[in-house]
Amino acid sequence: MQTASSPALFDLTGKTALVTGATRGIGLALARGLAGAGARVILNGRQPEAIDTAVATLRADGLQAFGAAFDVTDEAAVAQAFAALDRQGLTVDILVNNAGIQHRQPMVELALADWQRVIDTNLTAAFLVGREAARRMIERGRGGKIINIGSLTSEAARATVAPYTVAKGGIKLLSKAMAAEWARHDIQANAIGPGYILTEMNTALVNNPDFDAWVKASNPAQRWGRPEELVGTAVYLASSASNYVNGQIIYVDGGWLSVL
Ligand code: NDP
Repeated sequence: MQTASSPALFDLTGKTALVTGATRGIGLALARGLAGAGARVILNGRQPEAIDTAVATLRADGLQAFGAAFDVTDEAAVAQAFAALDRQGLTVDILVNNAGIQHRQPMVELALADWQRVIDTNLTAAFLVGREAARRMIERGRGGKIINIGSLTSEAARATVAPYTVAKGGIKLLSKAMAAEWARHDIQANAIGPGYILTEMNTALVNNPDFDAWVKASNPAQRWGRPEELVGTAVYLASSASNYVNGQIIYVDGGWLSVL
C-alpha cells in the first residue's frame, strides 16, 4: 500500500476553510495556520472592519483570505452567509467553529439572558454553522472536516462560568453527535480543548496577579499558552492525516488536565 509522505498528509492545498470568530485571538491564529498549510481561508466575525483588517494582514503575507461578516447566533444570517459564499464559488471543505464569548458571574446572580447568550454563542452556533456546512459537504459528496473549539471546561467545571462550562461540555458531545450522523459521508468532526491561552478574552485574568500566579502554579507547563500553539492540532484535524479520527476532543493545555 502506498502512503503519502508526511508533508503531503498535512497539505491543505485546494481546500477552503471557514473559521468563525477569526478577527483576533485563537481564530485568527488558526486561520493563518490553515492558510499557511495551503487552504483558502474565510474569516468570520461580526464587525466588517475588523474582518477587513484581518484579511489584509493574511493577504500581505501572500495567503489566500476572504471575509464573511455574520453573527453566528443568528440562524437567518448564517443561512444568508452560506448562500453568499455559494454565489462566490467558496464551498467550505473545512469548518472551524471557534467564535465564543465568556461571561463570569456566580450562578445565583446570573440573568437568563446572559446564560442564553453564552450558550447561543459557544454551543448553538456550532450547530447552526455546522448544519449549513454539512448540508453542502453531503450534497457535494467530497467529505469534509469540522473542528469545534471546546475548552478545559469541556472536561471539568469551574466556579463563575456555568453557562460557558455547559456550552463547552456540549461541544464535546456535539462533536460526537456530528461524527455519529456524518461519518458515513466522510465528514470528520472533532474538537480542540485549549488550556488558558493569551488572548483578548483573558485580558482581565492575565492582568490579575493572583489569577496569573494561579495559572502558572496549576499548570505543569507553568505558563499560559499562545494561540499559535493550537495550529498544529488544527492542521492535523483539517487534513487527511486524521481521516479515521472522528468524534474526539484533543486537549492542548500544557498538561493541565493530567494533574486536575
Ligand atoms: P477572543 O475574544 O479573542 O475572540 C473571539 C472571536 O469571536 C472574535 O473574533 C469575535 O469577533 C468573535 N465572535 C464573538 N461572538 C461572535 C458572534 N456572535 N458571531 C461571530 N463572531 C463572534 O476569544 P479567543 O480567541 O480567546 O477564543 C476563541 C475560542 O477559543 C472561543 O470559543 C473560546 O471559548 C475558546 N477558548 C479560549 C481559551 C482562551 O484561554 N483564550 C481557552 C479555551 C477555549 P467580534 O467580537 O468582532 O464579532
